[in-house]
Amino acid sequence: MQHTPGRTRPHGFSSMVMKRPHLVVTVCFLAAMVLVTLVGLRQLYNMTRYDLQSRQRDLEVRAVGVDALISAERRRLLFLRDYAEHVLASPSQQRAALGDPAVQAALHASGQPVWETPGALDGPPVFGTNAQGLAGLEGFHRDTATLAADIALTRAISPLVAISQHADTVQSTVAYISTNGVYVLSPERRDAHVTDLLRRFSTMPYYRLQLPEHNPNREIVWTPIYTEEKQTGSIATLSAPVYADGRFRGAVVMDVAPSRLLALQLVSATLPEDNEPTEFGLLNSNGDLVYFVDGKITAQRPANFDAPLLDLARRSAPAWMEREQGYVQHNGRYLLYQHVGESHWILLTNTDDTELTLAAARRVFSSPLIVAWVAIAVLLVGTLRIVTHIFGRYVEASSRLETLARNDPLTGLANRRRFLEVFGETLERASRDDSAAPAMAMLMLDIDFFKRVNDRYGHAAGDRVLVIFADILSKNLRSVDIPARVGGEEFAALLPGADLATAADVAERIRRAVETHAANAAAPGDAAHPDDIAFTISVGVAASPADCPANYDTLMSVADRRLYAAKEGGRNRVVAEDSRSIDPARA
Ligand code: GH3
Ligand code: MG
Ligand code: MG
Repeated sequence: MQHTPGRTRPHGFSSMVMKRPHLVVTVCFLAAMVLVTLVGLRQLYNMTRYDLQSRQRDLEVRAVGVDALISAERRRLLFLRDYAEHVLASPSQQRAALGDPAVQAALHASGQPVWETPGALDGPPVFGTNAQGLAGLEGFHRDTATLAADIALTRAISPLVAISQHADTVQSTVAYISTNGVYVLSPERRDAHVTDLLRRFSTMPYYRLQLPEHNPNREIVWTPIYTEEKQTGSIATLSAPVYADGRFRGAVVMDVAPSRLLALQLVSATLPEDNEPTEFGLLNSNGDLVYFVDGKITAQRPANFDAPLLDLARRSAPAWMEREQGYVQHNGRYLLYQHVGESHWILLTNTDDTELTLAAARRVFSSPLIVAWVAIAVLLVGTLRIVTHIFGRYVEASSRLETLARNDPLTGLANRRRFLEVFGETLERASRDDSAAPAMAMLMLDIDFFKRVNDRYGHAAGDRVLVIFADILSKNLRSVDIPARVGGEEFAALLPGADLATAADVAERIRRAVETHAANAAAPGDAAHPDDIAFTISVGVAASPADCPANYDTLMSVADRRLYAAKEGGRNRVVAEDSRSIDPARA
């Protein structure tokens, strides 16, 4: 029977699984854990986006509130404007005005540089100046034909201007200013000189932009800056022109103070949904900014607002009003914006990655999802430990079994099965390198008269001799050579790449080493000192391609035949060729 090279050994992944199953399982489990973690992180990221959107919605809700406030202010303004135009257009009102002694008194005083008259119904006082006081002030001129009507209207509107003041503590200014320089202001201002105030009015957009050439369509004018009041946070003024008989007669003016937003809890107050922002900015189209922090208004930038982002906001205000809402991002900080209705205001708020992540994490940890995650993680770790333990024991046991199956337990050399396997592998490798005729040699070694050793010193001593010989054999071979115990006291060695002469030399060297061992023995050995037992060996040598093709059975049989010849020839010798008498071909 021809022996084929040993069973095909598993390669690649399957061999990896066979050799280190627990490593493979660990890697698979770790991959699963990484996957679970990645899914978790992804979920967290989604949650942060969700939180960003929730803040955006919060801002949107507040903007709707602010817009409602602005609408209410516009309605109040239009009411004052309609009232003024109605009074100026009504003949009966005009007749009554001329008959009013207070109006007459005021008319009488109107030549003075500064004069005042009480408002109707305890309203704030009405102020005026003379023609000289109005000289050079754009938008003002003394018209005696309308002066009485203007005084009467300003007195009449005085209590309404005051009523338009809010009942709450917020002091935003409401005024009626006529082209005759007669005006009423609420809250009343006595600190400023009348002509200074009129000079201001003539330069301020809320009055100047009402002149027919600037506002031909008589629209409400939104003045996004009101410098004087900026410290207290008034950053917008609404004003509307008053006309009578097609002539511009004055303007009603009203602040929309951001403090009203606070009073109405439109910003800063926490909405029912918690974890929402409490810091806001209000930006107008001029780039003016006020901030709402903890229920207070400030012009100071709170630390949480990112300065570069605010600069961007100032520059982008028109574009952002167009876009209505969105956010910008810089170094992990976010600025969210929301255009307020049709106004010139943008509501701003800020957040950052840390805040978003914390908010998201709070959400995640309060959701049932986290229980699932923890359960999966615990299961993974637990299963991994169990499986690793089982595989650890399996690998240990199987490697022990493999050693047993492949090696001779007495000498530790390869057994016949393993030797056959290794021969196959060596042949395969040699064929790859030199397919024409792979060179290899085979030694068959047998201890001479070993039966006598057993008989004389006992089986245990015999065993010891076998071990000693195995040791000598191994020491006298190259590392690539493979020694094996193929029978009771029969050994073999495979010498890859060796030719017949080399192999014969190796065999001779081993034979002499055994002799040397005997010579070195301190005394003749006995059962108690098996290391000193002298013995000899006989060796048969065969080589391929010199003797036969590289094939286990043929090489073995040639080597065996020559071993037999060595025994026949007197033992303690090496035979590396067939004698004439044995080889009929040569005979
Ligand atoms: P020869 O020179 O012709 O080889 O003579 P020999 O006595 O060595 O040959 P033989 O084949 O007749 O005897 C081999 C002996 O080896 C027989 C057996 O008792 C002994 N033997 C085989 N295996 C073992 C073993 O594992 N331990 C021991 N102590 N003896 C063994
Ligand atoms: Mg023998
Ligand atoms: Mg024998």
